Amino acid sequence: MTPSRPDEPSDAAARRSRPAVVVYPVETLPSPDMARLLDARRTLALVDAVVVPPRDAACFEVPRGHFCRIVSVGGPQVGDLNLWNSADLSEGFFSGKTRALHGTHVGVGDRLWSGLPFLRPLATITHDTLGWYGFDEDGGGVHDVIGTRCDPYTNRLLHGGDYHHCCHSNLARALGARLGRPARDVEHHLHDVLNVFMCTGFTRDTHRYFMKASPVRPGDFLEFFAEIDLLGALSACPGGDCGSSHSSDAAACHPLRVEIFRPDPAALAGLERPEPSAYPRTHGERPPSDVASP
Ligand SMILES: [Zn+2]
Repeated sequence: MTPSRPDEPSDAAARRSRPAVVVYPVETLPSPDMARLLDARRTLALVDAVVVPPRDAACFEVPRGHFCRIVSVGGPQVGDLNLWNSADLSEGFFSGKTRALHGTHVGVGDRLWSGLPFLRPLATITHDTLGWYGFDEDGGGVHDVIGTRCDPYTNRLLHGGDYHHCCHSNLARALGARLGRPARDVEHHLHDVLNVFMCTGFTRDTHRYFMKASPVRPGDFLEFFAEIDLLGALSACPGGDCGSSHSSDAAACHPLRVEIFRPDPAALAGLERPEPSAYPRTHGERPPSDVASP
């Protein structure tokens, strides 16, 4: 039974007409030195490349100061990206705060922030060949930080049965292989993703999460600069271009290529490494030394 909608109060219109205020004004955020980064990207030399097979995932490393491209090859394909501090997997990408700071979809100049208590930029987006897309008439855009990742638990909940090539499982197998451990022992490291190339938004009437066929074509790429040493994992989603379905073998799927580039070191000499948040983590508690002994 659908609960009935309560009657509106007499001042409903006045309550709704209050101005919208941006939750996190980003004018005070430490901004990336885009001029230097864009200069440096003119000096890139390819040093490594990894192919992510369809309906599978692969890990890759991006040393600090290098650039990473996620490239469409073969056909329209969405990628689910996880990023961690390669020296400490407890510091991973914080999709929710990145969304709160930069918006539902990310593009050039936006940063990919790490979770609490670290909260520093892991990466800065430096190029996006889909930057022309903007928001379409449905309110859809590309590269969202709204979604989570397709996973076998939600699939079982909604449809019953088990599908083992959801992005969550692909990422878990790839990370497990990297760490020499079973997928089930490492899946807790996985976090909500950056949906590379995926075209998504919220429906106008009920604000539900929607997807539509990605506008990505072979040769398109999203590029980011590694602010610290990164371990990445990328899944080529079983949804393919995510125009109709996911969590099954129904969609046409294509590989993705990850390319790592080193710039001329002179181009970035002296660029500072972002440090974890300096918040002392006392959270309002008195330090133990302040607590009087009985
Ligand atoms: Zn997926």
